[in-house]
Amino acid sequence: LERDFSLMLRTRQPGGHVPAPLYATLSALADQYGNGTLRVTTRQTFQMHGVLKGNLQTVIEAIVRNMGSTLATCGDINRNVMAPPAPFRHRPSYRHAQEYARKLSDLLLPRTRSYYDLWIDDEQVEIPVLPQLEHLPKIHLDNPTEPLYGNQYLPRKFKCAITVPDDNSVDIYSQDIGLIVVTDTKGALRGFNILVGGGMGRTHNKEETFPLLGQPLGFAPVAEIETVMQAILAVQRDHGNRQDRKQARMKYLVHTWGIRKFRQKVQEYVGQKLKPWQKIPPFPPGLNYLGWQTQGDGKLFLGLSIPNGRIADTAEMQLKTALRLINEQFALPLQLSPTQDVILMDIDPHWRGKISEILRSHRVPLADDLSPFTRLAMACPALPTCGLAITESERVLPNLVQEVETLWGELGLGDTPLIIRMTGCPNGCARPYLAELGLVGTLPGHYQVWVGASANGDRLAQVLWEKMPLDGMTQVLKPIFTFYKQERYMGERFGDFCQRVGLTQLQQRAAES
Ligand code: SF4
Repeated sequence: LERDFSLMLRTRQPGGHVPAPLYATLSALADQYGNGTLRVTTRQTFQMHGVLKGNLQTVIEAIVRNMGSTLATCGDINRNVMAPPAPFRHRPSYRHAQEYARKLSDLLLPRTRSYYDLWIDDEQVEIPVLPQLEHLPKIHLDNPTEPLYGNQYLPRKFKCAITVPDDNSVDIYSQDIGLIVVTDTKGALRGFNILVGGGMGRTHNKEETFPLLGQPLGFAPVAEIETVMQAILAVQRDHGNRQDRKQARMKYLVHTWGIRKFRQKVQEYVGQKLKPWQKIPPFPPGLNYLGWQTQGDGKLFLGLSIPNGRIADTAEMQLKTALRLINEQFALPLQLSPTQDVILMDIDPHWRGKISEILRSHRVPLADDLSPFTRLAMACPALPTCGLAITESERVLPNLVQEVETLWGELGLGDTPLIIRMTGCPNGCARPYLAELGLVGTLPGHYQVWVGASANGDRLAQVLWEKMPLDGMTQVLKPIFTFYKQERYMGERFGDFCQRVGLTQLQQRAAES
């Protein structure tokens, strides 16, 4: 008799877009075959936990037949392509980002039929044809149906995102490839600035592993972007480290070679020089689009804060039921956000009252009911659903956020925003190395503490303490928060302050108290 293997299943939602029928399907599948909850991820997808192996075919087939997919959501391949979730219909740059998230997601999919043969019972499903690239080394002639990935796929997982110049909600510097939309003054798409070599994951006590920010590679006009994307991926395919998985992400290749050599190699693969990076202003601080806003086409959208991304019914609120009822009555598409929240979109202004009433009667808080810290905080799932977790994360973060918020209130810092992120291991799924205060699980009940990242995601944090118990963490941080209150410049964010004064001063202040 085979054991009852229980699995986590992840969906692919380019740009975080979820059609209404797919949400209805996923919500019902989670009840029938999962643990009754859906988890929004930091890469704008859904995870369903607790699916028994024997039910996988039923679940995946239902997802595919209802406008979804789980293809390429795990393994050494390009993962979900992210994009800013806000459905600003009147802003061309946002529309371009969503459109290219879908296009590039399709472009970088594997061409194998096995997925459909295995899960959709051998039915004919149309697979997009990959454009042939003249200069791309054809080293995989043994596998002509998989010209990009060949037989071996990539050395490691691969992550891409597209954003617009005034929105870094996707943490564009944390991606293997980050694209930034460049338009002309009328909003027509000219092309993309390209960053390469970002990545969060590291391993405790292995100095040779570290988070890195993406570096500017150049600019690609619209007509060239598909070629350039495939060329970058092929450079990593052919030159990434296949001996040591801890060094296999593209960020280590870019770091080891340097950006100039990496650019030269990409140019060789493309067959021409890349154009220079287009000047853009720095990103503003992190955005999360909670509350009611206008789309610009006469419709509204509503950003809902999902506590740590977990769509569930609990004693405090019936979030899952409320979303199901809204889906049944209004069939609204959703956008999943990089901060694990949900945006209900395409809302007729006449429906606002009814939707608010459903949310209120199921005790789902709206943006105004939430504290600023809660809106910005983010935790990965960790225990008990992630097999790699060393510590708790999503179950303990709300408590810590509340404690820090109370302390900031007592210190007179109440109206100053703070980005707190937590993960249960150094893989960094909730991107803690880009938080103003990041906690990374080291030992049960203990966390590495990172500080000093910029609020707009263009500077990494540094390790303040290697191992700090969660119990009493707020009191240990109190002298540092007090120091910040006393010595900060006007308007200076906590991350910028920590960066300016340096780790040594922060550690001394904490030790003196
Ligand atoms: Fe990711 Fe680690 Fe959190 Fe698991 S415990 S979700 S691998 S960061």
